[in-house]
Amino acid sequence: MVMATKEFSADKAKDFSDWYNKVIYAADLVDNRYNVQGFVVHKPWSMLAFRQIYRLFEAELEADGHLPALFPTVIPEENFEREKEHVEGFEPQVFWVTRAGAEDLKRHLALRPTSETAFYQMYSLWVNGKADLPLKMYQSCSVFRNEPETNPFMRGREFLWIEAHDCFAAQEEAMQQVKRDMAVCERVLSHELGLSFLFFERPAWDTFPGAETTFACDARLPDGKAFQIATTHFLGQKFAKAFGIRYSDDSGAEKFVFQTCFGIGVWRMMAAVVAVHGDNKGLMMPFSIAPVQAMAIPIAGKGVDSTRLLAKCREIKAVLEKAGIRASVDDSDKTPGYKYNYWEMKGVPIRIEVGEKELTAGTVTLARRDSRERVTVGADKVVAAVNELGFALLESMCERAANDLKSHILNVSTKKELAEALDAKNYARAFLCSTDKEGKECADFIQAETKGGKVRGTLFGGDEAVPRGAKCIHCGRPASAIVYIARQY
Ligand SMILES: [Zn+2]
Repeated sequence: MVMATKEFSADKAKDFSDWYNKVIYAADLVDNRYNVQGFVVHKPWSMLAFRQIYRLFEAELEADGHLPALFPTVIPEENFEREKEHVEGFEPQVFWVTRAGAEDLKRHLALRPTSETAFYQMYSLWVNGKADLPLKMYQSCSVFRNEPETNPFMRGREFLWIEAHDCFAAQEEAMQQVKRDMAVCERVLSHELGLSFLFFERPAWDTFPGAETTFACDARLPDGKAFQIATTHFLGQKFAKAFGIRYSDDSGAEKFVFQTCFGIGVWRMMAAVVAVHGDNKGLMMPFSIAPVQAMAIPIAGKGVDSTRLLAKCREIKAVLEKAGIRASVDDSDKTPGYKYNYWEMKGVPIRIEVGEKELTAGTVTLARRDSRERVTVGADKVVAAVNELGFALLESMCERAANDLKSHILNVSTKKELAEALDAKNYARAFLCSTDKEGKECADFIQAETKGGKVRGTLFGGDEAVPRGAKCIHCGRPASAIVYIARQY
């Protein structure tokens, strides 16, 4: 499988945004030449990786008791209008279908920007008694939002995600679900994709339209900006009351359910994987999601029987595939050096070199994408060696990302320190008077004075206690919260 190559040359440390916008096209993840602005074409190299990300999350959600469903892409206007805050929050971004054939539609249909109002219409029919609870379903799909500015995998008018919608009899169960969602993020994002993140409870002024409380997973991209990749919203009973999702309890009394919804930003995860792990040679795909985990390259020198080399490469590929490893052979007539660079640019975790030396000795040489360290093992040990090296590589990526995030969280106590911390691409940790509505004024001032420094929230489940005598970084009143501030995408 060899595709057309493009030149790639950019300096990630010097100009991250230039690097990002070059690497996604050089590696052939997307094509932006489709003739509707803000909509991109996903090419095979990204779709193959997306399929793996979906597989990981779907398995986790199902292990947590969710079942798959698929709701219609269109949502009637009347559903949308049932929850007032929700419609107000989303209205500016909704694409509407207003005509079918020659007929103007009386009922306009929204292309789903998110599916609460589709799911909950049906949930009101499905939930009758306590035996119907908890009700936990998810769908893997794309959603549509009329974003003014777009960038592939970061912000788009159509993007890929997973949304899970849950109903519970008791509020405590819903809050438990928030923790379970966080654990799902931890398992997939940290352990499988090697991404580090902070899980926040967002301030009261920054919740999802229609939610009581919003919890969010924020990564940090190399330019220091916070990047939201998943959110769980505690909806309380707002939507349940708007849609009539209720059941009779043991005494026969009618009760509304408590709800959560979990938005998994699969699309944004690709941006984070590209941005966090890539280097000046190109992408670095985590072993768990790489479309090709090991690429065999025949090294034909002068006087070497290339047929035998190629046959050996194909044999290795077959052995690896039989063991469940995604393997391929580059049998093109390019030079080995060219092939090395090309597959490094595409982010293949492991290269398998097969030359005359290996053929004679019955060995193969493996090279890892990050350090380019090479090891030679017996050809009969190739499955174990690829797995071992692949997971060692993933572990190094996890460690690098974790250390990187840790070293970019700075405590600040004055606004001067805050501005300096943000300019130096950090998350700043500061005291704030309040994360309830009364703290919003301070947060607005901070944002205006620091060119976009946004209060992301308080760490969820971190139990960060505010010390006695701590003062708000803006107004100087007694502090009630330790908050994290960063510029954002
Ligand atoms: Zn304040």
